[in-house]
Amino acid sequence: MIKRGVQWARGLKHRSLMKLAVINVLTDGEGTCRSCGQGDIDVLTVDHVENNGFIHRQSFGIRSFCGDKFYRWLIHNDYPDGYQILCMNCNLKKEIVRKRGTWSY
Ligand SMILES: [Zn+2]
Repeated sequence: MIKRGVQWARGLKHRSLMKLAVINVLTDGEGTCRSCGQGDIDVLTVDHVENNGFIHRQSFGIRSFCGDKFYRWLIHNDYPDGYQILCMNCNLKKEIVRKRGTWSY
């Protein structure tokens, strides 16, 4: 198993510096999913804590607000509250639970 730090460093070459900066700040330097501790930057993503991503995108008048454009916005707005880093699995799980209304199956 690859250690978290090695995995993190390996991703450095190929990742957007903006994504790295955002993940670093939003995880207080941990570089891991807030829910499960996953440290693979390839699968880490910014999550809207209050599930208001759609409203946020609407406020910008655009349907898609992700990737470098989103990272740039976070950096230039000094990382406003309401965002956290989750891995894709935990982000998807959160959405499934939100739609279903419960953690049980
Ligand atoms: Zn996770």
